Amino acid sequence: MVLRQSFLIILAFFGMVLCGLIYLNTNQNSCKPQIIEKVITKKNWKLKNFGLRSPVGLVYNQPSALVSRTDVASVTPWLAPIVWEGTFDSRVIDSIYKQQNITIATTVFALGKYTRFLKDFLESAEEHYFVGFRVHFYLFTDQPEEVPNVKLGQERYLTVKTLPSMNRWQDISMSRMEILEKLIENELASEADYIFCLDVDTKFYGRWGVESLGRLVGVIHPWFFNVPRFLFTYEHRPKSQAYIPAGKGDFYYTGAAFGGSLKDVHNLTKTCREQMNIDTANSIEALWHEESHLNKYFLYNKPSKLLSPEYLWRDISMSSGSVKIIRFSHVAKNNAEVRPNL
Ligand code: UDP
Ligand code: MN
Repeated sequence: MVLRQSFLIILAFFGMVLCGLIYLNTNQNSCKPQIIEKVITKKNWKLKNFGLRSPVGLVYNQPSALVSRTDVASVTPWLAPIVWEGTFDSRVIDSIYKQQNITIATTVFALGKYTRFLKDFLESAEEHYFVGFRVHFYLFTDQPEEVPNVKLGQERYLTVKTLPSMNRWQDISMSRMEILEKLIENELASEADYIFCLDVDTKFYGRWGVESLGRLVGVIHPWFFNVPRFLFTYEHRPKSQAYIPAGKGDFYYTGAAFGGSLKDVHNLTKTCREQMNIDTANSIEALWHEESHLNKYFLYNKPSKLLSPEYLWRDISMSSGSVKIIRFSHVAKNNAEVRPNL
């Protein structure tokens, strides 16, 4: 009798231990990850990091299906990721892209007084932008002699292209679409896999890497990521091809940074150029020039990946709770002083 009771007690004990282990295993991320870690190590089940090796043998933490950042949205309603600090593991994503031998074309324009921004832009890019990957900068300027001599690292290239000067800053900004369209068409096909188009009055302060790559990539404008859409500065005049009706629109995207695959960015730049030409023929210029057309394009051709305002902040001196890292930021500038027509 005593023997049977002891047997039942031992059985119940093992049952409880088993249930406990199953519970911990299914709740390990929402509960206490360190507990399961301890149990596994103690029992020497050799399960630690089991199945977590990337093809190059990298060891990293188990991804969680339950826990992520809760203070920001990391996915859109059309299931495009929104990249924020804490939503990716840079070592994991680097190791995946390292095997792909990719080239990232990056265009930047510096006409008139904007050549003054080039040194900081290029030097900071060397420090933070796609470090360890092949990057080819295409720099468009009306003063090639003003391009600073910045020492580029291995597999980092710079091609300077000369453009005629322009009198209106709006024309400089808008003409970028057609120039990019033609660059992709005529030169990049066998030269690059991805392209990013960036403003030059900017500087890198933190990592901007392969986590930003995607088929079609938009960056959420740093002034509008936390406001209702009626405040977005979309073009609301129906006469313009950039027209977005009131009550429509997902995000307000910046024109200062966008990118993606060559094919998708070619279609984007071609479409925006065509729409701007129609506007010119109809004697209308969209409120925020090519940025208005870009926003119209992204409304009907959803980006496959969005970058949070970490990837284009307003000015390094301004902070925000959710933006934990400033990777790339506009620098303070006196528009009246740097622009040709103000
Ligand atoms: N730009 C330029 N020279 C000019 C005006 C503009 O090279 O005189 C280029 C430059 O690449 C700049 C971009 O056009 O980053 C967009 O203009 P800007 O930065 O003035 O627009 P904002 O970011 O202030 O809206
Ligand atoms: Mn700018």
